[in-house]
Amino acid sequence: MTETKENQNYTFQAEIKQLLHLLSHSLYQNKEIAIRELVSNASDALDKFRHISLTEPKYADDHALQITVEPDADHKVLTIRDNGIGMTKEELIGNLGTIAHSGSLDYLKNLTGDAKKDVSLIGQFGVGFYSSFMLANRVEVVTRSYLEDKGWQWESFGTGEFSITPADVETRGTQIRLYLKDEMEEFTKPERLQYILTRYSTFVPYPIMLEGEQVNDQQPIWVEPKSQLSDEQYESFYQYLTHRGDEKPLWHLHLSADSPIQFHSILYCAPHNLEKMGFGVMEHGLHLCAKRILVDSQCRDLLPEYLRFIQGIVDSADLPLNVSRETLQDNTIFRKIKKVLTKKVLDHLQKISEGEKEEYLKFYREFGLMLREGLNQDFEHRMKIAKLLRFRSSDSNGDELTSLDEYLSRSKEDQTQIYYIGGPSLSQIRNNPNLEVFRRKGLEVLYLVDPIDEFVLAQLNMYEEKRLVSVDSADIEFPESTKEVDAEEETRAEEAASTTGFEQVVELFKEALGDQVQDVRASKRLREGISTLVSTGGISTQLEQALSMQAPEQMPLSKRILEVNAAAPLIQRLSDISGNDEHHDFIKDCARQVYANALLSVGLLPNVDEMVHRVDDLLLNAAQNRSSIVT
Ligand code: ADP
Repeated sequence: MTETKENQNYTFQAEIKQLLHLLSHSLYQNKEIAIRELVSNASDALDKFRHISLTEPKYADDHALQITVEPDADHKVLTIRDNGIGMTKEELIGNLGTIAHSGSLDYLKNLTGDAKKDVSLIGQFGVGFYSSFMLANRVEVVTRSYLEDKGWQWESFGTGEFSITPADVETRGTQIRLYLKDEMEEFTKPERLQYILTRYSTFVPYPIMLEGEQVNDQQPIWVEPKSQLSDEQYESFYQYLTHRGDEKPLWHLHLSADSPIQFHSILYCAPHNLEKMGFGVMEHGLHLCAKRILVDSQCRDLLPEYLRFIQGIVDSADLPLNVSRETLQDNTIFRKIKKVLTKKVLDHLQKISEGEKEEYLKFYREFGLMLREGLNQDFEHRMKIAKLLRFRSSDSNGDELTSLDEYLSRSKEDQTQIYYIGGPSLSQIRNNPNLEVFRRKGLEVLYLVDPIDEFVLAQLNMYEEKRLVSVDSADIEFPESTKEVDAEEETRAEEAASTTGFEQVVELFKEALGDQVQDVRASKRLREGISTLVSTGGISTQLEQALSMQAPEQMPLSKRILEVNAAAPLIQRLSDISGNDEHHDFIKDCARQVYANALLSVGLLPNVDEMVHRVDDLLLNAAQNRSSIVT
């Protein structure tokens, strides 16, 4: 924003020009939200003045705080007036010339060429004052700050500029005059205004006057008993609090406590996770009131960050009114309220997860990612959060989500570990050779497609005294009770592994692979596959790979153990011929290819050039052998 001629004409910040253009040309049908925004600004200005008059009594007076909506059909002007704090000249320039609101800025940054889509989102974001240009082609703001005895008039035609001139204003407060566009005459009709005000602004805590009558009922619904409130009332209060036109919260939680601390609260769960849609970190925070007077309209410290999908109001008679936002966190009562709210939200989620599974999964798909952050942020409630997590699992072949408790209810009685496997996709996971033994023994494995989940489980380490282990961990423990399942095959594999031929194969494999692997050994877990890789570091291949991709220099992939299935036909054949030196080069080539295949099947990349040459040679070799058989 820059000043131009005569010190009274100004140009808008570039983002606002963009926003104004969008708003005044928008096809967005729901123009009435502009009135909601202006009334809400008026209400904020009254809140601020009420707070000041209570904390600094020298500014108090006996003018009743109220909002007046004045339609003038003859001149096609709609005025919205309040006797709140008003604005100084500097505030006018700062507030109505730039966007301070990070949400609006994010909104603008996310604008795409698809204008229709963009405008349909308008209702979800508090675009505030500027939405007046959806209705008007000229807007005047006449205002006087409670700190000054003169006023100012701001004026703009919604193009690139605005002007500010001194004005005679008798009392403190602000009036917004909308010179309505031709097709917007409906906004001077009292019935239409009455409908809009009742629909969107009924909870405004000050009288809203229209033609001498109060249109809202100002009930602070959070102090009323739950039994007397309808779902519609809860929903419209949500829409009032969040400025979200037609959206319904996923669920709400109404809390009232008398001791040790008195407070009332209604908490709502947002319907969508805008962060998933690329809108940056969600704007969050609760309305905090002390004895019904708003102290902070976006108090971020009443709930931990990972519960930022919660919106709502908290009102406590025990909080001092003059506590500043900065010192709130040190206030004991405040901290106790935070503790209760956090616990109640987590308990409520647990309740839904048990009683209304579908509802819970809907919630989890939106906000599961935030909940998972909680494991690291909130040690006190770690186990409560862990109970709320959901994972895919082999029980449904990866199609459905399950909880750790459900997993345990299906696990073997003598099972001491909870098994999981990570991978870049469900199909990769399903094909991982490390799962073979679990299938055979009927042991359930959690399927983690999202690397964050692996990270979360590695951090959690234990759940209900069972260790969480990745299936490619070298020190996996199988329940005794599953040993019998394939005793016969196990004996066969052990016999195959104890032959001198096989020992020779292992030696040749070690020679061929050198320090690419930590060790080569007979596998106890494989029955069908030829080989697999296992790790000893306690960190799964998948997670290690995800971490090393972020910082390859600091974290080269650690070496794995190559496990070989001695009973697999290929390995048996190699064992049979390993006594003859002539075959050693061939066996070493096989070792390199078996290792490359093992890497591929756990989602790691072998040396591709080398591998292509080797496979070409092996194919040629096989083809030549074949021709000699035919002729
Ligand atoms: P928001 O209300 O989301 O902050 P707006 O664009 O609606 O964004 O308003 C910008 C700022 O202008 C407000 O934060 C407030 O400081 C000031 N403002 C708007 N309307 C009024 C009013 N009626 N009285 C006093 N200040 C106001």
